[in-house]
Formats: sequence, structure tokens, C-alpha cells
Amino acid sequence: MTKKFLIAGNWKMHGTLAFTETLCSEVAALLKKEPLKQVDLLVCPPFTALSGALKTLQKSGVLVGGQDCHHEPHGAYTGNISPVMLKDLGCTHVIVGHSERRQYERESNALVKEKAEAALAAGLIPIICIGETLEERETSQTLAVIERQLEGSVPRDATVVIAYEPVWAIGTGRVPTIDQVTEVHAAIAKKQKSFGSVSGTAKILYGGSVKPSNAAALLNVPHVDGALVGGASLEAASFFAIAKAAAGL
Ligand code: PEP
Repeated sequence: MTKKFLIAGNWKMHGTLAFTETLCSEVAALLKKEPLKQVDLLVCPPFTALSGALKTLQKSGVLVGGQDCHHEPHGAYTGNISPVMLKDLGCTHVIVGHSERRQYERESNALVKEKAEAALAAGLIPIICIGETLEERETSQTLAVIERQLEGSVPRDATVVIAYEPVWAIGTGRVPTIDQVTEVHAAIAKKQKSFGSVSGTAKILYGGSVKPSNAAALLNVPHVDGALVGGASLEAASFFAIAKAAAGL
């Protein structure tokens, strides 16, 4: 079976309504002109831009997801957004446990797992982010850290997407070597299998400074089923070029 790649754009805290409409229209137009078989495109704008993105991307085939969600479906949690609300809008996915949330919002593995479970219960596919810091990489702790994060933040017997994002590669222009990506993705795939109930839609993404120039090499690594793209997803041409790299494999 040919694998289906997922190319997901994490816009982070970027995206006014006007920016959203322009970027989404451009992505939709590129995909219309050049449909990509075996690639799902997903954009994850900030909460305030989700409705606009969904409207602009209607019938384009481009999926829309959230960048985070609360671990409860509803309740007295001022300022939070639940996975039920994301599903209600029309989202298909939600990113949980991004390293920026683990770092700045002090999110623990246990909380990330609760969020992923809540997302699944709401009918969303969680994209669960894991990855080591530079210090952990340099002290040979990468595989132990990955193992701990998988153990702590991934629900069992569920179809989820896992995104391996070395913290030191996010937004820095630095990327791990192909050998390093190969090693970590193989370890994640092995662990994921042991968690049970892995269907064809379960995926492992690589994330961290993915650009059109390095996408093909990274996406060609075994057990790399797509990419989580930050900076390069804010421009339709570079986001689409990454998706084309996947389609060409
Ligand atoms: C990210 O934020 O998930 C990410 C991978 O960012 P960038 O592509 O900019 O490194």
C-alpha cells in the first residue's frame, strides 16, 4: 500500500483574518491547479482564524485543525477552547503538547495525554508532539526522553499522529541528520506498535525547520509519514512545495 503523507502547517500566533483568507485561498488555488495524490494538507491557524480558514477552504480538500485544546469537553475554564468546540467548527485534527506549550505553559506529559484523550473522544485526531532539547541530545539522552514522552503522553489503543520535533530544530534552521531522524523515527514506530490498535491513519511526522530544500530528504526516511511545518507554512508557495516533495516520493 502506498503511504499517504500528512503535511501540516502550524501557524503558531500568526494570522489575522485578512492574512488567513489570503494564505488559505493561495493554498487552495495551488492544490486545485495541481492536485496531490497521496498527500493530505492540513493548516492549523490560531483559534480566532479557524472559522475564516474553514470558510475559505470549503471544498478545497485542505483540512483544518487547532493548535491546542483543553482536556475537558466543556466547563468553567475561562479562556480555553475544548476539542468538542473544534470538532463542532469542522476541524479534523488538533496539535497537543507542542514544545512551546510544554515550555511556556508548563504542560506535562500527563496533561498532554489527557488532551489527546479528550481530542479522540471528541472525534478529532490528536497530533502529539515530542522531542528532545539540545542539552538532552548532546548528553545522549534523546531516545530515553522520547521513550518517556511517548509513555507519558500517548493514549493506548488509539489512532493518533505523533510528531517528532527536536526542540533545537524548531524555528532555528538547524535540522538533525538523516541518521538521527532515522534512529528516532524507528524507535517511535516500534513503541507506537506496542501501544496497540494502530490503524493505517496513524502517522509519525517530522517537524523542525522543514523547508522546500530539505523536505524530500526528510520525508524519504522510513517511518516519516509527513511533516509538521512552522515558518514555511506561512507562505503558500513554500508550504505547497513541501507537499509536492511528499507527492514526488
Ligand atoms: C513547529 O513549530 O512545529 C515547527 C516545526 O516550526 P519550524 O518549521 O518553523 O521549525
